[in-house]
Amino acid sequence: MASISLKNICKTYAGGVQAVKDFNLEIHDKEFVVFVGPSGCGKSTTLRMIAGLEEISSGDLFIDDRRVNNVEPKDRDIAMVFQNYALYPYMTVFENMSFGLRLRKVPKKEIEQKVKQAAKILGIEDYLKRKPKNLSGGQRQRVALGRAIVREPKVFLLDEPLSNLDAKMRTQMRTEIIKLHKELQTTFVYVTHDQTEAMTMGTRIVVMKDGVIQQVDTPDNLYDYPVNKFVAGFIGTPQMNFLDVILEDGPDGLYAKYGRNKIKIAPETRKRCTAEELNQRQYVIGVRSEDVYLIGENDDRFPDSRINATVKITEKLGNETLVYCSVEGVENSEIVVRGGARCNVTGGDDVKIGVDTLHIQIFDYDTELNILKR
Ligand code: ADP
Ligand code: MG
Repeated sequence: MASISLKNICKTYAGGVQAVKDFNLEIHDKEFVVFVGPSGCGKSTTLRMIAGLEEISSGDLFIDDRRVNNVEPKDRDIAMVFQNYALYPYMTVFENMSFGLRLRKVPKKEIEQKVKQAAKILGIEDYLKRKPKNLSGGQRQRVALGRAIVREPKVFLLDEPLSNLDAKMRTQMRTEIIKLHKELQTTFVYVTHDQTEAMTMGTRIVVMKDGVIQQVDTPDNLYDYPVNKFVAGFIGTPQMNFLDVILEDGPDGLYAKYGRNKIKIAPETRKRCTAEELNQRQYVIGVRSEDVYLIGENDDRFPDSRINATVKITEKLGNETLVYCSVEGVENSEIVVRGGARCNVTGGDDVKIGVDTLHIQIFDYDTELNILKR
Protein backbone atom coordinates (compact mmCIF):
# COMPACT_ATOMS: atom_id res chain seq x y z
CA MET A 1 0.00 0.00 0.00
CA ALA A 2 1.42 3.34 -0.97
CA SER A 3 -0.08 6.50 -2.31
CA ILE A 4 2.07 9.56 -2.90
CA SER A 5 0.85 13.09 -2.64
CA LEU A 6 2.85 16.08 -3.88
CA LYS A 7 1.49 19.45 -2.78
CA ASN A 8 2.91 22.70 -4.13
CA ILE A 9 6.35 21.14 -4.45
CA CYS A 10 9.09 23.51 -5.59
CA LYS A 11 12.80 23.01 -6.06
CA THR A 12 15.33 25.77 -6.45
CA TYR A 13 18.93 24.61 -6.63
CA ALA A 14 21.74 26.54 -4.98
CA GLY A 15 22.70 28.91 -7.76
CA GLY A 16 19.08 29.78 -8.45
CA VAL A 17 17.88 27.25 -11.05
CA GLN A 18 14.14 26.76 -10.49
CA ALA A 19 13.95 23.12 -11.52
CA VAL A 20 10.41 22.33 -10.32
CA LYS A 21 7.59 24.85 -9.91
CA ASP A 22 4.43 24.28 -7.88
CA PHE A 23 4.12 20.58 -8.65
CA ASN A 24 0.77 19.09 -7.53
CA LEU A 25 -0.08 15.44 -8.04
CA GLU A 26 -1.88 12.58 -6.33
CA ILE A 27 -0.40 9.20 -7.17
CA HIS A 28 -2.73 6.38 -6.20
CA ASP A 29 -1.81 3.08 -4.64
CA LYS A 30 -0.63 0.51 -7.26
CA GLU A 31 -0.67 3.09 -10.04
CA PHE A 32 1.89 3.24 -12.88
CA VAL A 33 2.58 6.93 -13.39
CA VAL A 34 5.04 8.22 -15.98
CA PHE A 35 6.77 11.63 -15.91
CA VAL A 36 7.67 12.65 -19.45
CA GLY A 37 9.15 15.77 -20.99
CA PRO A 38 12.25 17.06 -22.73
CA SER A 39 15.66 16.89 -21.09
CA GLY A 40 16.04 19.41 -18.25
CA CYS A 41 12.32 19.81 -17.52
CA GLY A 42 12.66 18.62 -13.91
CA LYS A 43 11.66 14.94 -14.08
CA SER A 44 14.67 13.55 -12.22
CA THR A 45 14.59 16.34 -9.66
CA THR A 46 10.96 15.51 -8.83
CA LEU A 47 11.69 11.79 -8.59
CA ARG A 48 14.74 12.41 -6.40
CA MET A 49 12.65 14.56 -4.07
CA ILE A 50 10.19 11.67 -3.69
CA ALA A 51 13.12 9.36 -2.96
CA GLY A 52 14.58 11.79 -0.45
CA LEU A 53 17.80 12.21 -2.39
CA GLU A 54 17.10 15.88 -3.02
CA GLU A 55 15.86 18.41 -0.50
CA ILE A 56 12.43 19.91 -1.14
CA SER A 57 12.63 23.74 -1.26
CA SER A 58 8.96 24.25 -0.45
CA GLY A 59 5.72 22.29 -0.44
CA ASP A 60 4.68 19.03 1.20
CA LEU A 61 5.33 15.45 0.24
CA PHE A 62 3.19 12.69 1.69
CA ILE A 63 3.59 8.94 1.40
CA ASP A 64 0.45 7.23 2.72
CA ASP A 65 -0.67 10.35 4.59
CA ARG A 66 2.65 10.67 6.37
CA ARG A 67 4.57 13.87 5.67
CA VAL A 68 8.03 12.72 4.67
CA ASN A 69 9.84 15.95 3.75
CA ASN A 70 12.31 15.33 6.54
CA VAL A 71 12.36 11.53 6.50
CA GLU A 72 15.63 9.85 5.51
CA PRO A 73 15.63 8.02 2.15
CA LYS A 74 16.22 4.66 3.85
CA ASP A 75 13.13 5.16 5.99
CA ARG A 76 10.78 5.93 3.09
CA ASP A 77 10.32 2.33 1.97
CA ILE A 78 11.19 3.21 -1.60
CA ALA A 79 13.49 1.60 -4.17
CA MET A 80 15.03 3.52 -7.02
CA VAL A 81 16.39 2.17 -10.31
CA PHE A 82 18.71 4.33 -12.39
CA GLN A 83 19.72 4.56 -16.03
CA ASN A 84 23.32 3.54 -15.31
CA TYR A 85 22.28 0.52 -13.17
CA ALA A 86 24.69 1.53 -10.36
CA LEU A 87 25.82 -2.06 -9.72
CA TYR A 88 28.90 -2.89 -7.66
CA PRO A 89 31.41 -4.16 -10.26
CA TYR A 90 33.38 -6.43 -7.93
CA MET A 91 30.30 -8.21 -6.57
CA THR A 92 28.45 -11.08 -8.21
CA VAL A 93 24.86 -10.74 -9.29
CA PHE A 94 23.75 -12.55 -6.14
CA GLU A 95 25.84 -10.25 -3.94
CA ASN A 96 24.57 -7.18 -5.75
CA MET A 97 20.97 -8.23 -5.32
CA SER A 98 21.35 -9.24 -1.69
CA PHE A 99 23.49 -6.30 -0.60
CA GLY A 100 20.69 -4.24 0.96
CA LEU A 101 19.25 -7.26 2.78
CA ARG A 102 22.66 -8.21 4.20
CA LEU A 103 23.11 -4.67 5.48
CA ARG A 104 19.81 -5.02 7.28
CA LYS A 105 20.94 -8.33 8.76
CA VAL A 106 18.13 -10.33 7.20
CA PRO A 107 18.66 -14.05 7.94
CA LYS A 108 20.70 -15.85 5.28
CA LYS A 109 17.99 -18.36 4.40
CA GLU A 110 15.49 -15.58 3.82
CA ILE A 111 17.96 -13.63 1.65
CA GLU A 112 18.59 -16.66 -0.51
CA GLN A 113 14.91 -17.30 -0.95
CA LYS A 114 14.13 -13.67 -1.84
CA VAL A 115 16.99 -13.34 -4.33
CA LYS A 116 16.07 -16.64 -6.01
CA GLN A 117 12.47 -15.58 -6.29
CA ALA A 118 13.33 -12.18 -7.80
CA ALA A 119 15.86 -13.78 -10.15
CA LYS A 120 13.15 -16.14 -11.32
CA ILE A 121 10.70 -13.33 -12.04
CA LEU A 122 13.39 -11.56 -14.08
CA GLY A 123 14.81 -14.64 -15.80
CA ILE A 124 18.36 -14.18 -14.47
CA GLU A 125 18.60 -17.34 -12.31
CA ASP A 126 21.48 -18.64 -14.40
CA TYR A 127 23.65 -15.56 -13.91
CA LEU A 128 23.71 -15.26 -10.13
CA LYS A 129 27.42 -16.09 -9.89
CA ARG A 130 28.53 -13.74 -12.66
CA LYS A 131 30.03 -10.27 -12.28
CA PRO A 132 28.21 -7.35 -13.95
CA LYS A 133 30.94 -6.91 -16.57
CA ASN A 134 30.07 -10.34 -17.96
CA LEU A 135 26.44 -9.38 -18.54
CA SER A 136 24.67 -7.58 -21.39
CA GLY A 137 23.01 -4.20 -20.81
CA GLY A 138 19.60 -5.80 -20.57
CA GLN A 139 20.80 -8.36 -18.03
CA ARG A 140 22.46 -5.65 -15.92
CA GLN A 141 19.26 -3.67 -15.85
CA ARG A 142 17.43 -6.81 -14.71
CA VAL A 143 19.89 -7.17 -11.86
CA ALA A 144 19.27 -3.54 -10.88
CA LEU A 145 15.53 -4.23 -10.92
CA GLY A 146 16.11 -7.42 -8.93
CA ARG A 147 18.02 -5.53 -6.27
CA ALA A 148 15.00 -3.24 -5.94
CA ILE A 149 12.47 -6.11 -5.87
CA VAL A 150 14.11 -8.06 -3.03
CA ARG A 151 13.67 -5.09 -0.73
CA GLU A 152 9.89 -5.32 -1.25
CA PRO A 153 9.47 -1.56 -1.25
CA LYS A 154 6.13 0.21 -1.19
CA VAL A 155 7.14 2.36 -4.15
CA PHE A 156 9.38 1.82 -7.18
CA LEU A 157 10.99 4.89 -8.67
CA LEU A 158 12.61 4.37 -12.08
CA ASP A 159 14.67 7.09 -13.75
CA GLU A 160 15.15 6.43 -17.48
CA PRO A 161 16.00 2.79 -16.73
CA LEU A 162 16.02 1.75 -20.38
CA SER A 163 17.92 4.62 -21.97
CA ASN A 164 21.22 2.74 -22.17
CA LEU A 165 19.74 -0.23 -24.01
CA ASP A 166 19.52 -0.78 -27.75
CA ALA A 167 16.14 -0.34 -29.42
CA LYS A 168 15.15 -3.99 -29.46
CA MET A 169 16.10 -4.66 -25.85
CA ARG A 170 14.32 -1.45 -24.84
CA THR A 171 11.04 -2.66 -26.32
CA GLN A 172 11.43 -6.04 -24.65
CA MET A 173 12.25 -4.57 -21.23
CA ARG A 174 9.29 -2.21 -21.53
CA THR A 175 6.96 -5.20 -21.64
CA GLU A 176 8.82 -6.86 -18.77
CA ILE A 177 8.52 -3.83 -16.54
CA ILE A 178 4.78 -3.64 -17.24
CA LYS A 179 4.51 -7.32 -16.32
CA LEU A 180 6.57 -6.73 -13.21
CA HIS A 181 4.21 -3.98 -12.12
CA LYS A 182 1.22 -6.29 -12.54
CA GLU A 183 2.95 -9.01 -10.58
CA LEU A 184 4.23 -6.89 -7.71
CA GLN A 185 1.06 -4.81 -7.32
CA THR A 186 2.96 -1.79 -6.03
CA THR A 187 3.14 1.86 -6.98
CA PHE A 188 5.51 2.68 -9.86
CA VAL A 189 6.74 6.14 -10.82
CA TYR A 190 8.67 6.03 -14.08
CA VAL A 191 10.66 8.84 -15.68
CA THR A 192 11.45 9.02 -19.39
CA HIS A 193 12.07 11.63 -22.09
CA ASP A 194 10.69 9.19 -24.67
CA GLN A 195 7.04 9.81 -25.46
CA THR A 196 6.56 6.35 -26.98
CA GLU A 197 7.79 4.75 -23.78
CA ALA A 198 5.45 6.98 -21.78
CA MET A 199 2.45 6.23 -23.99
CA THR A 200 2.97 2.46 -23.95
CA MET A 201 3.74 2.09 -20.24
CA GLY A 202 1.81 4.66 -18.24
CA THR A 203 -1.74 4.35 -17.01
CA ARG A 204 -1.41 8.05 -16.28
CA ILE A 205 1.15 10.37 -17.79
CA VAL A 206 2.45 13.64 -16.40
CA VAL A 207 3.77 15.87 -19.19
CA MET A 208 6.29 18.44 -17.95
CA LYS A 209 8.02 21.45 -19.47
CA ASP A 210 10.40 23.90 -17.77
CA GLY A 211 9.61 22.51 -14.31
CA VAL A 212 5.86 22.93 -14.75
CA ILE A 213 3.20 20.23 -15.21
CA GLN A 214 1.42 20.77 -18.52
CA GLN A 215 -1.13 17.94 -18.37
CA VAL A 216 -1.85 14.83 -16.32
CA ASP A 217 -3.93 12.36 -18.28
CA THR A 218 -4.35 8.91 -19.79
CA PRO A 219 -2.41 8.16 -22.99
CA ASP A 220 -5.61 8.34 -25.08
CA ASN A 221 -6.65 11.70 -23.69
CA LEU A 222 -3.19 13.19 -24.17
CA TYR A 223 -3.34 12.15 -27.78
CA ASP A 224 -6.86 13.33 -28.54
CA TYR A 225 -7.30 16.21 -26.11
CA PRO A 226 -3.94 17.92 -25.58
CA VAL A 227 -4.42 21.02 -23.42
CA ASN A 228 -1.88 23.08 -25.37
CA LYS A 229 0.37 23.17 -28.38
CA PHE A 230 3.36 21.87 -26.45
CA VAL A 231 1.62 18.65 -25.36
CA ALA A 232 0.13 18.24 -28.84
CA GLY A 233 3.56 18.50 -30.43
CA PHE A 234 5.37 16.38 -27.87
CA ILE A 235 3.03 13.38 -28.01
CA GLY A 236 2.89 11.41 -31.27
CA THR A 237 5.24 10.84 -34.20
CA PRO A 238 5.59 12.31 -36.71
CA GLN A 239 4.88 15.53 -34.88
CA MET A 240 1.41 17.03 -35.26
CA ASN A 241 1.13 19.50 -38.16
CA PHE A 242 0.60 23.10 -37.07
CA LEU A 243 -1.04 25.54 -39.50
CA ASP A 244 -1.09 29.29 -38.78
CA VAL A 245 -4.52 30.31 -40.05
CA ILE A 246 -6.96 33.21 -39.99
CA LEU A 247 -10.43 32.07 -38.98
CA GLU A 248 -13.54 33.37 -40.71
CA ASP A 249 -16.70 32.85 -38.75
CA GLY A 250 -20.04 33.54 -40.41
CA PRO A 251 -23.59 32.34 -40.93
CA ASP A 252 -22.44 29.60 -43.33
CA GLY A 253 -19.94 28.19 -40.86
CA LEU A 254 -16.38 28.46 -39.69
CA TYR A 255 -13.54 28.59 -42.22
CA ALA A 256 -9.78 28.75 -41.89
CA LYS A 257 -7.70 30.70 -44.38
CA TYR A 258 -4.32 29.08 -44.95
CA GLY A 259 -2.32 30.72 -47.73
CA ARG A 260 -4.67 30.67 -50.71
CA ASN A 261 -6.66 27.78 -49.30
CA LYS A 262 -9.95 27.98 -47.50
CA ILE A 263 -10.70 25.08 -45.20
CA LYS A 264 -14.22 24.47 -43.91
CA ILE A 265 -14.23 23.43 -40.26
CA ALA A 266 -16.71 20.71 -39.34
CA PRO A 267 -19.76 22.12 -37.48
CA GLU A 268 -19.13 19.61 -34.67
CA THR A 269 -15.69 21.13 -34.17
CA ARG A 270 -17.08 24.66 -34.39
CA LYS A 271 -19.46 23.81 -31.53
CA ARG A 272 -16.53 22.82 -29.31
CA CYS A 273 -14.80 26.22 -29.64
CA THR A 274 -14.64 28.04 -26.31
CA ALA A 275 -13.05 31.29 -27.53
CA GLU A 276 -15.33 34.33 -27.65
CA GLU A 277 -13.93 35.89 -30.81
CA LEU A 278 -13.04 33.71 -33.74
CA ASN A 279 -13.73 35.89 -36.75
CA GLN A 280 -10.70 37.44 -38.49
CA ARG A 281 -8.40 36.23 -35.72
CA GLN A 282 -5.16 34.33 -36.00
CA TYR A 283 -5.23 30.78 -34.59
CA VAL A 284 -3.14 27.65 -34.97
CA ILE A 285 -4.78 24.51 -36.30
CA GLY A 286 -3.19 21.24 -35.21
CA VAL A 287 -3.83 18.13 -37.27
CA ARG A 288 -2.07 14.79 -37.04
CA SER A 289 -0.54 13.19 -40.10
CA GLU A 290 -3.14 10.40 -40.03
CA ASP A 291 -5.97 12.94 -40.29
CA VAL A 292 -4.78 14.50 -43.55
CA TYR A 293 -5.12 12.64 -46.82
CA LEU A 294 -3.70 12.82 -50.32
CA ILE A 295 -6.74 13.28 -52.57
CA GLY A 296 -6.59 11.34 -55.82
CA GLU A 297 -8.56 11.91 -59.01
CA ASN A 298 -12.28 11.16 -58.69
CA ASP A 299 -11.76 11.21 -54.93
CA ASP A 300 -14.63 13.07 -53.31
CA ARG A 301 -13.46 13.09 -49.70
CA PHE A 302 -13.30 16.42 -47.85
CA PRO A 303 -14.39 18.54 -50.84
CA ASP A 304 -14.57 21.77 -48.79
CA SER A 305 -11.48 21.20 -46.67
CA ARG A 306 -8.57 20.88 -49.05
CA ILE A 307 -5.11 22.36 -49.30
CA ASN A 308 -3.11 22.68 -52.52
CA ALA A 309 0.45 21.64 -51.77
CA THR A 310 3.70 20.53 -53.35
CA VAL A 311 5.59 17.44 -52.27
CA LYS A 312 9.05 18.26 -50.86
CA ILE A 313 10.30 14.77 -50.10
CA THR A 314 8.92 11.36 -49.23
CA GLU A 315 10.14 8.90 -46.63
CA LYS A 316 9.47 5.22 -47.29
CA LEU A 317 9.06 3.39 -44.00
CA GLY A 318 7.91 0.09 -45.46
CA ASN A 319 4.44 -0.13 -43.98
CA GLU A 320 3.76 3.49 -44.88
CA THR A 321 5.16 6.53 -46.65
CA LEU A 322 5.57 9.90 -44.99
CA VAL A 323 4.93 12.64 -47.52
CA TYR A 324 6.37 16.06 -46.59
CA CYS A 325 4.61 18.90 -48.38
CA SER A 326 4.90 22.68 -48.57
CA VAL A 327 2.12 25.12 -49.28
CA GLU A 328 2.49 28.03 -51.66
CA GLY A 329 2.12 31.44 -50.07
CA VAL A 330 2.85 30.19 -46.54
CA GLU A 331 6.36 30.77 -45.25
CA ASN A 332 8.17 27.72 -43.81
CA SER A 333 5.05 25.63 -44.26
CA GLU A 334 5.26 21.90 -43.82
CA ILE A 335 2.47 19.35 -43.76
CA VAL A 336 3.28 15.69 -43.23
CA VAL A 337 0.80 13.20 -44.66
CA ARG A 338 0.83 9.46 -44.01
CA GLY A 339 0.61 7.82 -47.40
CA GLY A 340 0.16 4.10 -47.81
CA ALA A 341 2.98 1.61 -48.30
CA ARG A 342 2.69 1.91 -52.07
CA CYS A 343 2.13 5.64 -52.25
CA ASN A 344 3.91 6.78 -55.41
CA VAL A 345 4.11 10.58 -55.29
CA THR A 346 7.58 12.12 -55.48
CA GLY A 347 9.29 15.43 -54.79
CA GLY A 348 7.93 18.26 -56.96
CA ASP A 349 4.48 16.73 -57.47
CA ASP A 350 1.48 18.99 -56.94
CA VAL A 351 -1.03 17.35 -54.61
CA LYS A 352 -4.32 18.09 -52.91
CA ILE A 353 -4.49 17.41 -49.20
CA GLY A 354 -7.87 16.71 -47.59
CA VAL A 355 -8.16 17.72 -43.93
CA ASP A 356 -10.47 15.76 -41.65
CA THR A 357 -11.60 18.73 -39.61
CA LEU A 358 -13.51 16.52 -37.16
CA HIS A 359 -10.11 15.57 -35.82
CA ILE A 360 -8.26 18.83 -35.49
CA GLN A 361 -7.18 20.96 -32.55
CA ILE A 362 -7.36 24.75 -32.49
CA PHE A 363 -4.82 26.65 -30.39
CA ASP A 364 -4.85 30.29 -29.36
CA TYR A 365 -2.05 32.00 -31.25
CA ASP A 366 -0.61 33.77 -28.19
CA THR A 367 -1.32 31.51 -25.20
CA GLU A 368 -1.04 28.30 -27.27
CA LEU A 369 -3.92 26.85 -25.22
CA ASN A 370 -6.36 24.49 -26.92
CA ILE A 371 -9.64 26.36 -27.40
CA LEU A 372 -11.66 23.19 -28.09
CA LYS A 373 -13.50 21.61 -25.20
CA ARG A 374 -13.57 17.82 -24.92
P1 ADP B 1 15.34 16.05 -16.36
O1 ADP B 1 15.51 14.86 -15.49
O2 ADP B 1 13.92 16.31 -16.77
O3 ADP B 1 16.22 16.01 -17.57
P2 ADP B 1 16.51 17.50 -14.14
O4 ADP B 1 15.54 17.33 -13.05
O5 ADP B 1 17.73 16.67 -14.12
O6 ADP B 1 15.75 17.37 -15.54
O7 ADP B 1 16.98 19.03 -14.19
C1 ADP B 1 16.08 20.11 -14.11
C2 ADP B 1 16.86 21.41 -14.12
O8 ADP B 1 17.63 21.51 -12.92
C3 ADP B 1 17.84 21.55 -15.25
O9 ADP B 1 17.87 22.89 -15.64
C4 ADP B 1 19.15 21.14 -14.62
O10 ADP B 1 20.24 21.76 -15.28
C5 ADP B 1 18.99 21.63 -13.20
N1 ADP B 1 19.74 20.82 -12.23
C6 ADP B 1 19.67 19.48 -12.05
N2 ADP B 1 20.47 19.06 -11.04
C7 ADP B 1 21.06 20.18 -10.56
C8 ADP B 1 22.02 20.44 -9.50
N3 ADP B 1 22.47 19.45 -8.73
N4 ADP B 1 22.41 21.73 -9.31
C9 ADP B 1 21.94 22.73 -10.07
N5 ADP B 1 21.04 22.57 -11.07
C10 ADP B 1 20.61 21.32 -11.32
MG1 MG C 1 16.75 13.15 -15.78
